[in-house]
Parts: sequence; C-alpha cells; structure tokens
Amino acid sequence: MSFRTKLREHTLEEIRDLLTSLGEPSYRGDQIYQWLTRKVALSFMEMTDIPKSLRLKLEDHFDLSLPSVVDLQSDDEGTTKFAVRLEDGEIIESVLIPERDHYTLCVSTQVGCAFGCKFCLTGKSGFKRDLSVGEILAQVVIAKRFLKLKGESLPLRNIVFMGMGEPLANYKNLVKVLKILEDKRGFNFSRKRLTVSTVGLVRELRALAKEFPTALALSLHAPNDELRRQLMPIAKKYSLSELIEIIKTFPRVKKGRITIEYLLIKDVNDSLREAEELYRLLRGLPVKINLIPFNPHPDIPFERPSEEIIYNFQRYLLSKGMLTTLRKSKGVKISAGCGQLRRRLEGELLTPNPIYFEATLRAEAFS
Ligand code: SAH
Ligand code: SF4
Repeated sequence: MSFRTKLREHTLEEIRDLLTSLGEPSYRGDQIYQWLTRKVALSFMEMTDIPKSLRLKLEDHFDLSLPSVVDLQSDDEGTTKFAVRLEDGEIIESVLIPERDHYTLCVSTQVGCAFGCKFCLTGKSGFKRDLSVGEILAQVVIAKRFLKLKGESLPLRNIVFMGMGEPLANYKNLVKVLKILEDKRGFNFSRKRLTVSTVGLVRELRALAKEFPTALALSLHAPNDELRRQLMPIAKKYSLSELIEIIKTFPRVKKGRITIEYLLIKDVNDSLREAEELYRLLRGLPVKINLIPFNPHPDIPFERPSEEIIYNFQRYLLSKGMLTTLRKSKGVKISAGCGQLRRRLEGELLTPNPIYFEATLRAEAFS
C-alpha cells in the first residue's frame, strides 16, 4: 500500500497547491498536469522537461501508478475491451469503439451497480463500491495510451459514461471527473462529447443541471410507469412524469438533444402499442431515441426481438417524425456489448505494475 499522494485524483489547481507545499513553483504543477493528461505519461521518468533531481523527489511524494490492464480483447471491427484490475483486486471494464473519424470510450463509474435492472448483467452482480476520480480517469489514460502505442491517428473524442455502474450514484466523483476531462489545459474534451447515461436519478439530475450540465442519455426502456417498474426498481421511486420534467428543463449543451435509451426486449416492450405510447410520451420534446436491441446472456431471462420487430418499431417512430436511431451492437462477440459488463474478481493474480501494463498494451497494439 502506497502512502504517497495519488496525483491522478486531482485537478490542476490541486496539483499546483501540492507542488507549492513542497516548496516548488506552481508552474511545475502545470507541466506535470500536461504530462498526465495530454501526453498520458505513466511515470515521472517520462517528464523530460523536469530536472532529473526534481523527478526523483516527486517520485518520493506522489503516486502516478495506473491500474493494470489484465485482459484486452479486440474484435474484427476494432472494438477493444479493457479489463482493468484495481488496487483492491476488483476488475472493471471499459470499451473503446472506433467511429468514422474518431474513437468513443465507454467508461465504468462503479464496481457493480445497486439498481438491479432486470435485463442488466452488471445489475445482477450487485454493488461493490464507487470508483475514485483517479480510477475513472485511468480508463481514459489507458485508452489514450493504447491508441498512441498503436500509432492511431484518429483521436479519442467521445466519452460515454455507460459502462459498469450508475454514474449519478457516484455523483461527487463524477462531477470532478467531468471537470477534469473538460479542462482545456489538460484532456480538453468538449462538453457536448461527454455523455452521462443514467437510470434517471431525479435528485442528482437536478444537481447536475445546475453544477455541470453535459450531454445526457436517459435509460427509459418503457413507455409507462407500470412496465418500467417491472423492469427497473428505480421506477418505484421516480415516475416518468418526473423524468419528462427533467427532459424539459435540463440545460442542453449547444442545443443538443437528450438521448432516450430504449432497450428492445422480445415480447416485453417491443410491440407497436409500446411504440405508439412512447411516441405520445415524447412527442414535441427535444429528444432523440436510441433503440438498443437487447444483448442476450444465459443468466438473463430475456430475448432479443427479431430484426423485423426491431425494424417495425423504428419505422413507426420515424413515420411520426421522431428522430430514432438503432444502436449497432458493436463488441458483442467479445462480451463488450452494452449491459454485458460484469463485475469479476479474478482467480489468477497478475501483479499490478506498469511494466506489465505497458507490455500488455504493446503486445496488443502490435498484434
Ligand atoms: N447505469 C446507467 C449507465 C450504465 S448501463 C444506465 O442505466 O443508464 C448502460 C446502458 O446499457 C443502459 O442504457 C442499459 O439499459 C443498457 N443495457 C443494460 N443491459 C443491457 C442488455 N442486456 N442489452 C443491451 N443493453 C443493455
Ligand atoms: Fe445499473 Fe444501468 Fe445496469 Fe440498471 S442498466 S443495473 S442502472 S448499470
């Protein structure tokens, strides 16, 4: 266990203060911050514009270690799933998805999830703990490092908080992560390209609206409260009318629309009756609907609708003038599809150390 301060948990201002408390000028904080964010350095030794003697001193005080990547799988289309082992042995996953001119990274915010949606594998495994700021950001660093090693020219541009866990249930850390990701002096992500996906925690959504509104994806999955309550326990606490109120009032970044995520589950919520009900619920609102065909798994008692049913559902909504997209199931072959991420505690112990980490990334990047 290290008692050095973990620098990846901190904002630039905090890092400057840490440096000045060591008697160093605060601009050293800016240099280090650049290395940690834009240049995704793994150690002080990489920070060549800092004198060697200072680097050694910094090493004594600060911990830059990243969790190790214990498994990496890519499919034919270039979707890559990272399994990351945290200090306490818990494993989380993130998924890097290639798009036409950029990459999107789907990050986890918790180990497991407490909300127990009936269709979700993460939910089934229960809740273990929140991720720290550094653990959430580490997923971004790992993905950027991976792209860099591969010599990939397309940038990582989008971050979606759609991996394991409910981001708004880890509210404080989430907001700090968002602020660090947006900071122009560091990662410099555009706020409209940071998407928080939520099961619909109304209280936290109201807080986020005030504190740091980003792009938003609301997991609706049902067009009425009764059906929603059967699928998602949170619907017993918050009604659809409260979520509609959020849709109407949540500040929209650059006039973007709020994404409505609607999982299509065979014979549960996939009939034209539900499509019509969904239309009546959402018409006139600034939304786009993203239909997500259910990703089946032996441990979950639901099925994916046929292509025809999926197509008809989308066609109905489009015919009513609703902007409706169909999520392509990227990464399903490597169990990286939505809702397929699951908390695991591996039997085999792979020593977490940066050399192993880099070796794993390198092997994959050049394979
Ligand atoms: N907790 C947040 C974010 C993580 S879940 C939320 O619920 O929004 C990310 C997305 O995966 C959600 O839209 C969720 O409904 C979806 N999902 C869960 N299980 C799924 C499955 N088996 N097939 C397809 N999508 C699933
Ligand atoms: Fe948790 Fe989201 Fe899965 Fe529901 S869908 S159990 S909120 S991760």
